[in-house]
Amino acid sequence: MKPTSILYIVVILFAVHTNYAQIKGYDAEIKTMLSEVKSENLEATVRKLTSFGTRHTLSDTKSTTRGIGAARNWVKSEFDKYALASNGRLTSSIDFFTIKADGKRIATDSQLGNVMATLKGTDATDDRVLIISGHLDSRATDVMDATIDAPGANDDGSGVAAMMELARIMSKREFPFTLIFVAVVGEEQGLYGAKHLADKAKDEKWNVVAMINNDMIGNSLSSGTSIRDNTQVRVFSETIPYLETEAEAKIRKATNRDNDSPSRQLARYIKTVTNQYVAQLDINLVYRNDRFLRGGDHTPFSQNGFTAIRFCEMNENYDHQHQTVRKENNVQYGDLPEFVDFEYMKKVTCSNLATFSNLAWAPKAPTNVGIEVKDLTNFSTLVWNKPEGKPVYGYTILIRETAAPFWEKTLFVKDTRAEIPYSKDNFFFAVQAIDELGHASLPVFPIPIR
Ligand SMILES: [Zn+2]
Repeated sequence: MKPTSILYIVVILFAVHTNYAQIKGYDAEIKTMLSEVKSENLEATVRKLTSFGTRHTLSDTKSTTRGIGAARNWVKSEFDKYALASNGRLTSSIDFFTIKADGKRIATDSQLGNVMATLKGTDATDDRVLIISGHLDSRATDVMDATIDAPGANDDGSGVAAMMELARIMSKREFPFTLIFVAVVGEEQGLYGAKHLADKAKDEKWNVVAMINNDMIGNSLSSGTSIRDNTQVRVFSETIPYLETEAEAKIRKATNRDNDSPSRQLARYIKTVTNQYVAQLDINLVYRNDRFLRGGDHTPFSQNGFTAIRFCEMNENYDHQHQTVRKENNVQYGDLPEFVDFEYMKKVTCSNLATFSNLAWAPKAPTNVGIEVKDLTNFSTLVWNKPEGKPVYGYTILIRETAAPFWEKTLFVKDTRAEIPYSKDNFFFAVQAIDELGHASLPVFPIPIR
């Protein structure tokens, strides 16, 4: 071997050694926040929500003890309690809107209201927004019955309770940009509350980084079996984006980006963060927008072009979902609190909190992420621009084989250009910006540059 070749190998080894490292840290503050999630709080919230008898979207709005009106006022009053500990940064509101009779599940024109808590960011120049939701409304067997009991403990008292626990814990901390915690209504009647908010976000051009929907996250016993699984939760994410322009479709087809929608990147991000921060909980990624032929409150956000996913328990129990409370042949039907597994719910809430806080403290995502294609080579060169705003410590390049469902390798680089020893013919890549504590932006899939 010629001396120059040896020198070349030494240089390459040195380069690999100095430029690439694994980021393994965690943020101690996030660990502290996770320790503040209490199953007793989650249970108290779910029981309080069920105490309103029904939270059907079209139920009583005047009573102070029963119906959707009493329920939404209570959620708002809880937000107001959290606001006291937030130095005036958390504000609550009920966002009222009118929905027209639709000839389906809305019989007459009705006024509905989403209950929102908005935590203002500390950096006025950072226009990003994160949204987390659960749905406040409930239903019995007959979706049009607005007076019969519909406790909705799991569907979706669980999602609302998780969202409120995040609002309580996060409002004591500062984040650079706006976080929105929302209990939407009208889900069971046709996703009306979520659609109202998604349309507002689109019309007002909100820079929504991610929308996270929690709908049924507290059941662990599968109906019709004896299977109890409190170690997995599903995260649903769309495959081909609902809203895809012709130009975007062209790039997707050219780059085989069929499994790398922004929502899918968010779903994989949740899996990574959960592995890092939450014990005994696996994220089961389901590569479809929602359950078969179904939709949820994240769907109107997807349809408006936002990055949005749904958390949902691994096992559903149909004895306690959309069922009128009753006993038949000694079987108790109905969505009652005694069937909610609050320790399981706590882990799912922790996964939400770890995800939401990592995203909220992360730098913006790198921009103009590209992959050079002018030369034929077995290496790949990725280039991007440093994002504006919050300082960046470095970037992680995520790598996986084309048939792999999840990212398999992570390289850390400081520069905004990297030549890596992986062929773009055989691997997919994405780039994310990170800060010193390892808070990472959502990964960006590169587009070809010539
Ligand atoms: Zn639901």
